[in-house]
Amino acid sequence: MDTDRLLTDLLARVDPDRLRALTLDLVRIPSPTGDSDAVTARYAEVVRGLGLKVEVLHDFPGGPSTVARVPGDGSARALTLDGHLDTIHAPHAAPRVEGDRIYGRGAGDMKSGIAAMVEAARVLVESGVRLSGSLILATHSLHEAPVGHMEGLKALIARGDVFTDAALVAESASDALPVRGKGQALMELEVTRPGEVLHENTARPQGVPNPLEHVARVAARMLARGEELAAAEDPLLGPETYFLGQIHGGDFYNRVPVRAALNGTYRYGPDKTWADVEAEVRGVIDGVERPAGLDVNLRLLSNGLGYAVDPEAPIVGALQGAYERVTGRALPLCGALSVCDVNVIVREAGIPAVAHGTGSTTAHADVEWVELAGIVRAARVYLATAVRYLGVT
Ligand SMILES: [Zn+2]
Repeated sequence: MDTDRLLTDLLARVDPDRLRALTLDLVRIPSPTGDSDAVTARYAEVVRGLGLKVEVLHDFPGGPSTVARVPGDGSARALTLDGHLDTIHAPHAAPRVEGDRIYGRGAGDMKSGIAAMVEAARVLVESGVRLSGSLILATHSLHEAPVGHMEGLKALIARGDVFTDAALVAESASDALPVRGKGQALMELEVTRPGEVLHENTARPQGVPNPLEHVARVAARMLARGEELAAAEDPLLGPETYFLGQIHGGDFYNRVPVRAALNGTYRYGPDKTWADVEAEVRGVIDGVERPAGLDVNLRLLSNGLGYAVDPEAPIVGALQGAYERVTGRALPLCGALSVCDVNVIVREAGIPAVAHGTGSTTAHADVEWVELAGIVRAARVYLATAVRYLGVT
């Protein structure tokens, strides 16, 4: 049987009813980050039901990871489908199905993507097709900040036998393919001075500096630096950016506070190391003259380095071809502004990774939902990508 006829047969086996049921099943088991044992146990039970062995790893309390394999004959590269089973800590109305939508915390981010991974594996197993390379299913559960710091994913990468050749992350873009992603640094600046809050006319003659004015100057310098950076534009990512999220300080129009603070992000290009990022941000902050008597403390936290994937990598062509086969439309290359698992996999495993989600746009929203058609498409795209990338014997 040629690959095209095989694919036609396999794609027709993707079952929307199963996808709806499994997505709802997983969404009904709450799994805020740090409390994902029950949903992981249910997921593992479903995958075992396909006849696959599932390793459940309890390296982190409340944040288990899993690895399962659809074995190939060992003659080709492996493909790892990756997803997280935890959700953000935010209340949500009870899960429900309404028309073609599934509602509930985690419906879009990203239990529907997990369900699509499982369905792709089910079709491969039940059709009896012999793959050349192995399909690996990997899940982890310490994804969502601020509770999670991707510990589960990083531990799976460190094992060395899960993310070996190429990865497909089952969330994020669904109508374009990110091959370059920005890195993100979270900046927290605190400016303090010893002593008491003073009237401005008491403080000024004594030379007491105002932390709030210093924070304002640093903020202005960040905005100016952002304008400088806007000149150098990455065609897929746009320019590097500084963003101010919060500025706090002061409690009265003529009182000099003892503390002021700002936070925000610096988003940067794929080629930077963390040392580059630190030098950039400290350069901006140190570029503002610091009055004597102020303590300036910067906390700079990495939310993930930027990444670049070779557009000629086989997984990129496999995903583009699969998407076109399933939807009849081309899948253009794009850049990713937000950090996701792809950043960590490319930078820490050193393998090409791509992302394709179920198309939900309500991640982290008060009302989270996903369309069944998007889950069906994702399952078919994963299946066709696996067949194209892994090959059949
Ligand atoms: Zn997610």
